[in-house]
Amino acid sequence: MTRPAAPPAAPDRAAPAAPDRAAPAIRELVREELRGGTPYGAPQLDLPVRLNTNENAYPLPEPVVRAIGAAVAGELAGLNRYPDRDAVALRADLAGYLGHGLAAERVWAANGSNEVQQQLFQAFGGPGRTGLGFTPAYSMHPRLAAATGTGWRPGRRGPGPGFALAAGDAVEQVRAHRPELVFLCSPNNPTGTALDLAVVAAVLAEAPGIVVVDEAYAEFARPGTTSALTLLPDHPRLVVTRTMSKAFGFAGGRLGYLAADPEVVAALQLVRLPYHLSALTQAAARAALAHADLLLGNVAALVRERDRLVAELRSRGLPTADSDANFVLFGGMADHRAVWRRLADRGVLVRDVGLAGWLRVTAGTPAETGAFLAALDAALDAALDAALDAALDQVRDEEAQ
Ligand code: PMP
Repeated sequence: MTRPAAPPAAPDRAAPAAPDRAAPAIRELVREELRGGTPYGAPQLDLPVRLNTNENAYPLPEPVVRAIGAAVAGELAGLNRYPDRDAVALRADLAGYLGHGLAAERVWAANGSNEVQQQLFQAFGGPGRTGLGFTPAYSMHPRLAAATGTGWRPGRRGPGPGFALAAGDAVEQVRAHRPELVFLCSPNNPTGTALDLAVVAAVLAEAPGIVVVDEAYAEFARPGTTSALTLLPDHPRLVVTRTMSKAFGFAGGRLGYLAADPEVVAALQLVRLPYHLSALTQAAARAALAHADLLLGNVAALVRERDRLVAELRSRGLPTADSDANFVLFGGMADHRAVWRRLADRGVLVRDVGLAGWLRVTAGTPAETGAFLAALDAALDAALDAALDAALDQVRDEEAQ
């Protein structure tokens, strides 16, 4: 009988692995356009008054919580199966909510409008192609361009406090860049103001490719604002994106969607991951939509706080953009970072959107508005004191010379 071959000797656990000196650092392996970047996201500090991410301040009403709970529970035993890949029932519900004669074939949904927009970049952008936005606008648009290898042109808007985008100016920029994708944001984040539809129509007439109107905050718009949805029947290259994260108060549920020509929807189905919307997400979103009236019941209260913020900020002499959204952009600060810090010190979190002299505050409950205004007054007094101290120091220095 032959003896079986001895097993190979176990490696000496104590011996250190030889360092792989020739290997490049991970950061050098990352795609060039992503290298050195920072992830999207404002500081999520656990402060008592959080007015930095344009969430809906109100928790879901109890009947909606129960309905979503029952809908999700109804899916649990079936989780051994994949969900409907094309989320047809949910898309039909979303089309019903939007109205304008839309049907499921013209609606597409994904995990937040961020994912919807990423799919638009994947299908219509990519290497060798270009997207154009009008800055300042939603900061994810250029990030999605970078993530999909799409070139990005940061177009310009007019100066604050209006940050207006005139049709002629927009058309000129589209003509100069010939982008495959144009992103318009209405109401615009971070400035807050909705676009005149004439601007959208003018851009559509000039743009050679897809024109996206990001209407994440449409439900908060002032009376008389018309949605770009009304332009869809005559414009197959128009895409209107929406979300349940804001007015619906469903940010944690992650459900965004768009309305467009059925061929746009077909193109997105080429790039979406299989089963990207879980059975739980689809069921929860459908239950939420079935209670749209209840969920949207707090929009009027948020709009009141938004208008109160605009009036209060202007009464303090701070330049403030008109807002059709659930947030307000205000300026006039010599050192907006110092004001941001002083507000945070007083338990109020607002957003530094990277615009020198400006900060963005979300409209919340009446109590949150009160807390913000009190903290702002203290922060501005402190800023004034600091400016006076600096001026006095300078005078003393000059006198001493
Ligand atoms: N568009 C705009 C203009 C936004 O401000 C946001 C959220 N901050 C989004 C899209 C994305 O929202 P979500 O992915 O939650 O739908």
